[in-house]
Order: sequence, then structure tokens, then C-alpha cells
Amino acid sequence: MSRRTPLVAGNWKMNLDHVEAAGFVQRLSWLLHDARYDYDSSAEIAIMPPYTSIRSVQVLLQAERMRVKVGAQNVSAISGGAFTGDISARMLQRLGCSYVIVGHSERRKYHPEDDVDLVDKVRAVLAAGMQPILCVGESLSERSQGIELEYAVGQVSDVTRDLSDAEASRLLIAYEPVWAIGGGMSATPKTAQNAAAAIRQHFRDRYGEAVAGVVRILYGGSVNSNNAESLMQGADVDGFLIGGAALKPDEFAKIAGIVTLAAVARDGR
Ligand code: PEP
Repeated sequence: MSRRTPLVAGNWKMNLDHVEAAGFVQRLSWLLHDARYDYDSSAEIAIMPPYTSIRSVQVLLQAERMRVKVGAQNVSAISGGAFTGDISARMLQRLGCSYVIVGHSERRKYHPEDDVDLVDKVRAVLAAGMQPILCVGESLSERSQGIELEYAVGQVSDVTRDLSDAEASRLLIAYEPVWAIGGGMSATPKTAQNAAAAIRQHFRDRYGEAVAGVVRILYGGSVNSNNAESLMQGADVDGFLIGGAALKPDEFAKIAGIVTLAAVARDGR
């Protein structure tokens, strides 16, 4: 039986300004209330808005008494100073963020971030008391060479190898094959589970069962309410990082309900 609480995390990317975000949260509040969403025994829900919407989202969540967590999509590795345009981990922590996405494939592509940057970002997030969601995953090129698992596990290893057991236990990994993001073509449940199992095995080999058993491994890539149930069948898949479908409150709430039911059926939680 797994004691890992599944997470349904919405990555809004560069969508929903603070006014639109308020509309989203109000609709989500109504949907979760209507579904009698039980935060204690259901999937954890988190929203990662653009920086400019974080405060509005957080204030509204509090006002509506919604136990939905808030996160950021990126962070600077540096703690402060003359770095125009950057946002520190401490600033995010002071805003009430619980999670920070690190190394999303769009950031790796458009703002070239190498593993050294990501090591420092993961450390900054952990040091500020938040949890990093480290994104890894192969492109079609690695997949066509049959090296997708080595590639994704290698990315995990490169960024997390020097963490202590206590730090590693607080990590979340999002396996997001680049070819599956945003295009409507999700990985199969078997592909998602194989990657999650390989990543968990890496933690088992490096840190032992105590750490491997608590690290949450998410799948991301064209998740929606039609494929969420089958993707959750994998014993090592602990929820989702969701892009497009997370911009629609009805779809997002539906996925949270599906993940809860699938986790109960799978793990007997
Ligand atoms: C993402 O960007 O993290 C993502 C998974 O996007 P989508 O769900 O739209 O594929």
C-alpha cells in the first residue's frame, strides 16, 4: 500500500492574468464544494500561476477556505541582489508557495538552463522550505534511439546526486516526455509507469527504500479527464503535472476527482 498522497498540479505557464485567475479560483471553489471534495482523504491540489497571479490566487484560496496549494513555475538560484527580473526562493516562500517547478522543458529550451543551474535552483527551493518539482523527460530523438529511460534517470541523477537523504525525501519528480507536452499525444500508461519505476529505482539504488518510498513521481504530458484514470494505474505514478487541461477549472476539478478514485482503487488508501 502506498502512503504517498497523489498530487494534481496545474502549470498555467504564461496564461491567466490576475483578474482571469480570480475567475478560475472562484469556479474551482464552486466545483470542489459541489463535489464535496474532502481535502483530507483526496488528492492534493496545487496551482502554479504566473508570478503576477500568485498573490491574487493565494488570497482568494484563503478567502474561500480552499486547501489548494500554490507554487511557482521557476525561481532564481540566487538569494537576492542586482539581478533584474529575477525572483528568489525566499520571495516565493514568503508569498506562501509550497512548490516550485524546476527545469521544465520549456525553460530548458527557451532559457537554456543546464544541470548546474538546476542543482542550485533545487537547493535554493529546499533551503527556503519549499518542495521542488524537478521536470525530466526525453525528446523524440532519445526515444528513437531507445535511450529514453537512461536519459530521464540521468537528468534526475545529475541534478539530485549530492542531496542528503532528508533533502531527497522532499523532492517531487515530474516525468514529462517532451514529445507529449502540449500536443495532445499523451504517453501510454505503460510508458509513464516504466519511467516512474525507473526513476524510483534510481532513488532506491542511491538513497535506499526509505527515500525511494516517499519521493512523489508525477507524469506530465497531455493529461486530461479521458486519460487520467488509465495513467494513474501505474503503481509508481503519484499524480500529474498538467498544462493545457489545468486552465479549465471544470476539467482540472474532474481530474482531481479521478486521481483520488484511482489512488483509492490502486493503493487501498
Ligand atoms: C506541462 O507543460 O507541464 C504539461 C504537461 O503541459 P500539457 O499538459 O499541456 O501537455
